[in-house]
Amino acid sequence: MAAIEVENLHKAYGKVRAVDDISFRVQIGEIFGFLGPNGAGKTTTIEIIEGYRKPDDGRVTVLGLDPFRQPYEMKERVGIMLQSTSLYPDLRVGEIIKLFAGYYKHTVDTDALLEMMGLIEKKGSFARELSGGQRQRLALTLAFINDAEILFLDEPTAGLDPQSRRTVWEWIDGARQKRKTAFITTHYIEEAEKLCDRVAIIDHGRIIALDTPRRLMADLEAEHRIEFVADSALDLAKLWDIPGLCTVVNGKKGEYTLHVSAPQRALKGLMALAAEEGFHPRDLRVEGATLEDVFIKLTGRRIRE
Ligand code: ATP
Repeated sequence: MAAIEVENLHKAYGKVRAVDDISFRVQIGEIFGFLGPNGAGKTTTIEIIEGYRKPDDGRVTVLGLDPFRQPYEMKERVGIMLQSTSLYPDLRVGEIIKLFAGYYKHTVDTDALLEMMGLIEKKGSFARELSGGQRQRLALTLAFINDAEILFLDEPTAGLDPQSRRTVWEWIDGARQKRKTAFITTHYIEEAEKLCDRVAIIDHGRIIALDTPRRLMADLEAEHRIEFVADSALDLAKLWDIPGLCTVVNGKKGEYTLHVSAPQRALKGLMALAAEEGFHPRDLRVEGATLEDVFIKLTGRRIRE
């Protein structure tokens, strides 16, 4: 049995097709990422799977259960991270934990959990007194409270500093060691690449690619990205003479992104072209390709514009 099955899911808000025929399957024990820019449809999808929003059409099962017909059976077995803004501001951290723990038949040792999340000394503080990062960690704590088989985490590390982000990745990785499943939405490339076994790249309500990060990048056929800024518009046809060039993207304010298979030969070619055409590539950078490059290749845009 799959952990999550989604078939031909649709959801529109007026003319906006937030989810436009999405299908995928998450296996038990898999960390599955939904990566896409703001407004791509990630939250709508995760909330439909959690049973919080009704789809217009399509089928969802979680551990074989229907989130709308069998919500209680399902919620016992899944851990849901709430939006940190929807935590009760006038309750103390300990009270919120107790309230949520009361929803489940089986829970973990909540003090040990708070300790692990670095919140034990905040147990007596009101939620409104927490910093943004602490609130985010509290929201995440609630997803772990019932030792669930599947974790649903919507932007789990949004707004966290790099150190806390790494700690959260370690917790999620710890869940993987225990054969838990996680469904994570994110717009952080690194999070999707480092944490997820498979990633669905989503844009305008559709899945435009789905595979392991490694295979998505192998499909790119270009292992490096060259970025530079040119003061005047370049003739794109001439750029195609650069050896090993796979993709050219002309961004805002004269920014160019080239995906290349052989960076040294390509750099040489670019410099020769610059001398010939009389332009000077500014802010020149050569980097290894990332999932962002997969997104750029598929859409011509960056995940974070
Ligand atoms: P973000 O990363 O910004 O949260 P997202 O990928 O989670 O984005 P959604 O929140 O699912 O995207 O939104 C998808 C689209 O649906 C957007 O265009 C959004 O404006 C629209 N949308 C989402 N919720 C509603 C709603 N309740 N009413 C109207 N439009 C909505």
